Amino acid sequence: MEQIKEILLCKYGEIVLKGANRSTFESMLTKEIKKRASQYGVFKVSHLQSTVYIEPQNEECDLDGMFGCLKKIFGISGVTRAAVAEKNMESILETVKSYLPEKLYGKRTFRVDAKRSDKLFPLQSPEIAAQVGGAILSTVPKIKVDLHNPDSMIRVEIRDKAAYIHADQQKGAGGMPPRSSGRGLLLLSGGIDSPVAGFMMAKRGMEIEALHFESYPYTSERARDKVFSLADKLCEYTSRLHIHVISLTHIQEVLRDSCEEDYFTLLLRIFMMTLAQMCAKQYNCRALITGESLGQVASQTIEALNVTDSVVTELPVFRPCIGMDKEEIVEISRKIDTFDTSVLPYEDCCTVFTPRHPKTKPEKEKVFAELAKVDFDALVKEAYDSGFYTIFDEFPICRNIPKRLAFSAEKRCAVGT
Ligand code: ATP
Ligand code: MG
Repeated sequence: MEQIKEILLCKYGEIVLKGANRSTFESMLTKEIKKRASQYGVFKVSHLQSTVYIEPQNEECDLDGMFGCLKKIFGISGVTRAAVAEKNMESILETVKSYLPEKLYGKRTFRVDAKRSDKLFPLQSPEIAAQVGGAILSTVPKIKVDLHNPDSMIRVEIRDKAAYIHADQQKGAGGMPPRSSGRGLLLLSGGIDSPVAGFMMAKRGMEIEALHFESYPYTSERARDKVFSLADKLCEYTSRLHIHVISLTHIQEVLRDSCEEDYFTLLLRIFMMTLAQMCAKQYNCRALITGESLGQVASQTIEALNVTDSVVTELPVFRPCIGMDKEEIVEISRKIDTFDTSVLPYEDCCTVFTPRHPKTKPEKEKVFAELAKVDFDALVKEAYDSGFYTIFDEFPICRNIPKRLAFSAEKRCAVGT
């Protein structure tokens, strides 16, 4: 028998619910898969009947690597490796007998589902399933059929061009294709919540641009590197991420010297949101994204959020973690592998000059009266125009070069340059 040809199949997620504009989303997804596939070899990528076909074009293609990559592309609900057979029962059964025993190794029970999208195929789905089941029973020792709770789910699909046989489709990342919902600016700290918030919005198809605030020398270079590592992890889902870094050092020193301590955090957050809005506008981001969760800390009560939101006048603020418990956020951060980095004990600018008794129910007038004690516009301009950097590299590509080199890629000096 000829060597089995194996390909990868991806099932669409929510795209299937789209109406007239469905093809736009399909092309976005296919384009993203093509782009990422180039890192794993030469693949042909095409889509037909709610499925994307990824076919290796030579022996050198890294099918395992591509499979792992597909599981991190939003817009895909299921991924599977499949053997390709000609559209006749002889070829299908021969392929089943040589392809499936290895896949079924160690499994006690199985079920076969057949799907016949090509209605011209002479046998109906139940007959196809019965014959394939028979072939499995005759080749795999001791295995049994279990229709209700099988160890392994075998699928046979008779499609336009060929028949495909696969075992145990795995769950994809779900959501909407990358870059199908506009661009958002993620306020990325080194903590647990903000990478999760970025992941959740990227899942809804947002392209993510990240902004990190630091307070060097009160925060260290290691703290900044930690944020780069988090961005690197997020990049496995977003495929591209720019990080902007703005220094808040001077602002924090001025606040410390001029304002009432209890208001430090809130005042700092007003500066952060103002600078974030400026950055978002310059880089065509249509929303701000934060990792805030209601009631988690003093600056995340309704009253405090109302104060910080009052300076964001032109964009919506997305807070996907707002209704989640810390435990739920941690669960996602473990899933996307950011948790271990997030818990590294480096300081964040928010922990510099932390008030001993932060206001939890601030009055807006009082906060803005405190703010009036400093030259807000001048401080904002100075912060935005000076310590402002952009990384333009795509992380997967620069993964092998030192982060520092990536960071020094460009220094921005003035708004609009
Ligand atoms: P996280 O675990 O994500 O840091 P947190 O529980 O520490 O969240 P805060 O420090 O109050 O919460 O920050 C709330 C949100 O503000 C963060 O989720 C993030 O979106 C933003 N933020 C906080 N610190 C920074 C920073 N240094 N740079 C950019 N954004 C920040
Ligand atoms: Mg934090």
